[in-house]
Amino acid sequence: LDALHAACPHVTWSTEFSPGQTFDAAVVANPPPGTLTGLKGLRLIQSLWAGVDRVLQDETLPADVPLARMVDPAMTAAMAETALWAVLSLHRGFFDYTAQQRQTQWHQHPQRRAEEVSVLVLGHGVMGQAVSSRLAAQGYSVTAWRRGEPPGLALQEAHAASSPGAVCTLSGGAGLTAALPRAQILINLLPLTMQTLGILGAATLSRLPRGASVVNFGRGGHLVEADLAQALDAGHLKHAVLDVFAQEPLPADHPFWRHPKITVLPHVAALTDLVSAAAVVADNLDRLARGLPLRHLVDRHQGY
Ligand code: NDP
Repeated sequence: LDALHAACPHVTWSTEFSPGQTFDAAVVANPPPGTLTGLKGLRLIQSLWAGVDRVLQDETLPADVPLARMVDPAMTAAMAETALWAVLSLHRGFFDYTAQQRQTQWHQHPQRRAEEVSVLVLGHGVMGQAVSSRLAAQGYSVTAWRRGEPPGLALQEAHAASSPGAVCTLSGGAGLTAALPRAQILINLLPLTMQTLGILGAATLSRLPRGASVVNFGRGGHLVEADLAQALDAGHLKHAVLDVFAQEPLPADHPFWRHPKITVLPHVAALTDLVSAAAVVADNLDRLARGLPLRHLVDRHQGY
C-alpha cells in the first residue's frame, strides 16, 4: 500500500470496503472468492500477480470488468536470472557437485559447451521470451513453444540455425512433438489454463530424451507429481528444479523436500517488485482516468 501511495499520490486508496460501495478500480493479489462481489462502478481489476489462474477461479469475479495482469519489468528480469541459474547449474553439474560435497566426494564430470545443450522453453510470452533470449545470448541452443502459429516453421528453424543467439519458435501439438525428443532441459513458463493443466505428465516427460532435466517455474497444476517422481526414480530424467507446487507452502512431509534429484524453491523464481509493480499499476490507473487503452489485459476465454 505504501508503494501504491507513492506511485499514485492522487488516488484515494481503501483497504476496507463492503458491497454497494463504488470504486473505479480494484488492485488484487489473489483475494478470497467473492471479495469483489457487490462493488459498484468497477472499470478495472488489476492483478498484482503475473499468473491470473487463481483469480479466474473465482466464479463471482465480475465478468464485464476488464482484468489486467501484472507485467513487471523487474519481475521479468528476475525470472531470466533464475532460469539462467537453473540452466547453468544443470548444464555444468553444479547440483551434482553440491551433493558430492555433502559426501566429501572429489569427482570431476565431463564439461560441455553451452551450444551443446538444447533447452526447450514452454511458453513464449513475457516470461518465456525473456528467458529464451537470455539463454540464447549465453550460447544455449534454445527452442520456444507457444500456442499461436509462428509465421513459418521452416523459416524459423532456418533462421535459428543460421544466426547464433536466435530462438527457434514452434507451436501446437506437432511443434511440441518435434521439440521434446531433442530437449535436454525443459523449462515450463506456461500459464495454468484448462489446456495446460497437467501438461508435465507421463506423456510429455516420457518423450524427453533419457537424462533430460525439468524446470517448473509455471504453476504446480502443470506438473503431475507422481509422474515426475516415477521418471526420476526410473532414471529417465536426471534432475528437476521446482518452484511451484500443487500445494503451497509445500507440506513438510512432502517427499520432494528430501528427493535427491529435486531442487525445491519456495515460489521465488520471480517475485512482484513492489516499486516497479506499483508504477505499472499507476500507469493503468492513469490510462483508465484518461480513457486510454488499458495494458496487459487478460483474455478470459483463453485464461491468460
Ligand atoms: P504470457 O501470457 O505473456 O505468455 C504465455 C505464453 O504461454 C504465450 O506464449 C502463450 O502462447 C503460451 N501458451 C498459453 N497457452 C498455451 C497452450 N495451450 N499451448 C502452448 N502455449 C501456450 O505469460 P507470462 O510469460 O507473463 O507468464 C507465464 C506464467 O509464468 C504465468 O501465468 C505464471 O503462471 C508464471 N509465473 C511464475 C512466476 C514464479 O515466480 N514462479 C512469476 C511470474 C509468472 P501465445 O504466445 O501463442 O499466446
